[in-house]
Amino acid sequence: MTAPQRDAAPTDFAELNWLAVAERVRADTRVLIPMGATEEHGYLSLASDSIYADYVTRQACARVGVLRTPVVPFGPSAFAINFPGTLSMRTSTMCAIVEDIIDCLYRQGFRRLVFATGHGGNEVITGVLSEAQIDRDGLSVYYYNCWDGMRDESRRISEERGLGVCDHAAWYEVQADTRVAPIPAGASQPVPADPDFPMFPLNPRTARRQIPDGVVAGAYDIADDAETARLREACVDHLTDFLQRLPAAAPER
Ligand SMILES: [Zn+2]
Repeated sequence: MTAPQRDAAPTDFAELNWLAVAERVRADTRVLIPMGATEEHGYLSLASDSIYADYVTRQACARVGVLRTPVVPFGPSAFAINFPGTLSMRTSTMCAIVEDIIDCLYRQGFRRLVFATGHGGNEVITGVLSEAQIDRDGLSVYYYNCWDGMRDESRRISEERGLGVCDHAAWYEVQADTRVAPIPAGASQPVPADPDFPMFPLNPRTARRQIPDGVVAGAYDIADDAETARLREACVDHLTDFLQRLPAAAPER
């Protein structure tokens, strides 16, 4: 925890009516849109990325007093489409959703839109975010990765504990609220040796054969929820700093 909460006024759309939002946007044109996913995460919750984005953005927005829309619970997850429970949006669907969100928020007076994602696959929207600004005067759109704040610390832990190359659904995604079932103790997934296995993008047709339980690479768990919770708090701090540096006033036209 770095910054104290600036005010106790609610920041979530879910806690506000439209009259309150109308009043807030007159003084502060910032709004954050949390982006998640519903996709296999190995032994972890299908909603892991949504849970992560929800937590990090809720804490940071409350500290800074930035309004926050509900979490967008789906993203492009083509690689995982054959894992039951995954709900993947086509890239074109996702971009259309984002365009509609931008259109609504811009009309209503918001001028600094922060799309904050817990899911790497949402990167496909960045082209739309850029293009959305071309013909909308005074609009600035930002793409923020909710994992950014843990990068250095997670690398240090990984090196110290010899956890190997880590990727999707590995230890750093384990939190008390994403752990929904026992995780095999001491398990570690090497990067598959299959020459048809690129780390990115994974082939949806072969993914279940190459990563049978859904963990892409690395140690499954460090059995230390306090440590991973600290990593998540570092992400809250990082986003808090980002939002504090973002002016409340509209950008120049
Ligand atoms: Zn994830």
